[in-house]
Amino acid sequence: MSKSDDDSLRPATKLVQGGRRPEWTGDPRLGGGVVNPPVWRASTILYDNIADLKARGHATHDKLYYGRRGTPTVWALADALTGMEPGAEGTLLYPSGVAANSAGLLALLSPGDHLLMVDSAYEPTRAFCNGMLARLGIETSYYDPLVGAGIAELIRPETKLIFLESPGSLTFEVQDVPAIVAVARERGVLTMLDNTWATPLLFPALSHGIDVTMMSLTKYVGGHSDAMMGSLTATKAVWPRLRSAAYQLGQAVSPDDCALILRGLRTLDVRMRRHGESGLAVASWLAGRGEVGRVLHPALPGDPGHAIWSRDFGGASGLFGFTLKGVDEAARTRFIDSLAHFGIGFSWGGYESLVVPSNPETIRTATTWTDPDPLVRLSIGLEDAADLIADLERGFSAI
Ligand SMILES: *Cc1c(COP(=O)(O)O)cnc(C)c1O
Repeated sequence: MSKSDDDSLRPATKLVQGGRRPEWTGDPRLGGGVVNPPVWRASTILYDNIADLKARGHATHDKLYYGRRGTPTVWALADALTGMEPGAEGTLLYPSGVAANSAGLLALLSPGDHLLMVDSAYEPTRAFCNGMLARLGIETSYYDPLVGAGIAELIRPETKLIFLESPGSLTFEVQDVPAIVAVARERGVLTMLDNTWATPLLFPALSHGIDVTMMSLTKYVGGHSDAMMGSLTATKAVWPRLRSAAYQLGQAVSPDDCALILRGLRTLDVRMRRHGESGLAVASWLAGRGEVGRVLHPALPGDPGHAIWSRDFGGASGLFGFTLKGVDEAARTRFIDSLAHFGIGFSWGGYESLVVPSNPETIRTATTWTDPDPLVRLSIGLEDAADLIADLERGFSAI
C-alpha cells in the first residue's frame, strides 16, 4: 500500500508522495532511503536459485522478473499516475502518447467491432484508426465533438468503444463527457479519453465515469521537452485486458525516461497553475485585439465550450488557438516568423512557449471547419506573460 493510494490526500500532495514506496527508495540493510526512486536499468534479473526463479517466473507487477516488465523506477511512475486518478486499478506506460493510444485501441477492439472516434482527435489517432484498425476489419465512425447525449443515435450493436478527447486538438471543443458516459454505460459501450490537455489535476477522468484515460506524458507531465512517453490508466474492469495486450505487444519504457517524467510530475501542480494563469492572460489580451478573429480557449466566458468547461474542469492548461482576422496565410507566416519568445515546433506542455500554424479544415470529416481566417496554436510556457504579450504585439506589427 503506497502513500499515493490514499484517496483522502489532495492532488498536490499525491504528486509529491506518489510512487515513493520504501521498498523502491531504500534497502533496510542500508538503514535509510533516498527521496527519488533510483534508476534501475535492467534486462536480466538474477534469481537466487531455481526455486526462486520458479516462484517469481509468473510475476506480473512489482516483483522483479525481467527488464521488459519493468523495474522499481518504472513502477514508481506508474504508481504515482494511478494515484492521481481515484478509481484507477493501474497504469501502463508506453514509449509515446501515440503508442499508448494505439495499444489501448488494439486491446479493446476486435475484427468486426465498431469504434466511435471524436472528429477533433489528435491527427495521428485518426491515422491509426484509418490505417491499422481498418486493415484489421475494425470500422471507425467520426462524430461531432459537440454531439453530447446525441451519441446514442450513433451507437450500433457492434459499437464497442467511444473515444473522446476534450478539449479537442487544434480547435479546443469541450465535450459533454458526463452525457456521453451516461449513454455509453447504459448501452454497455466502453469509453476511452485522451486527457493530455487537462491531466487528472484539472480533469480526473475516471471519476467522471471514463473507463480508460490516456495521456501523452511527453507534454505537461514530463514538462521539460526532453522525453517521450505515454500512459493508460484504467478501471479494475478494463485493466486485465490492457495489461494482457501490453505484455503481448512487448512495449517497454526506459527507466531513465521514467525518472525524467517522474521529476516532471512532482512539479505538475505549480506548473499547471502558471501555464493556466499566463495562458488565460494571453488569451484575454488576444481577445481584445483588432487583429484577432476569435480565440479558442474554453476558460474565456464567450467560448462555446465555457459552460461545460466551468462545470467539469478544475482549471485550464496553457494550450489554445486563435485566428488572424481577414488575412492570408502569408501574413500568418510573417506573424509566426517574427516572434522571438515562441519557438516554432510541434509538441507542447514544456516550460518554453511554442507556436505552430494549424489547419483543421484538412483533417475533419464529420464536421466542417469553415472559418476562413488562418489559425495559430500557442503553448504558453513559464515565461513572464508580459514578455509574451509584448512579443505577440511585435508579431501583429509584422503582419
Ligand atoms: C502529442 C499528443 C499525443 C501524442 O503524444 P506523443 O507522446 O507525441 O506520441 C496524443 N494526444 C494528444 C492530444 C497530443 O497532443
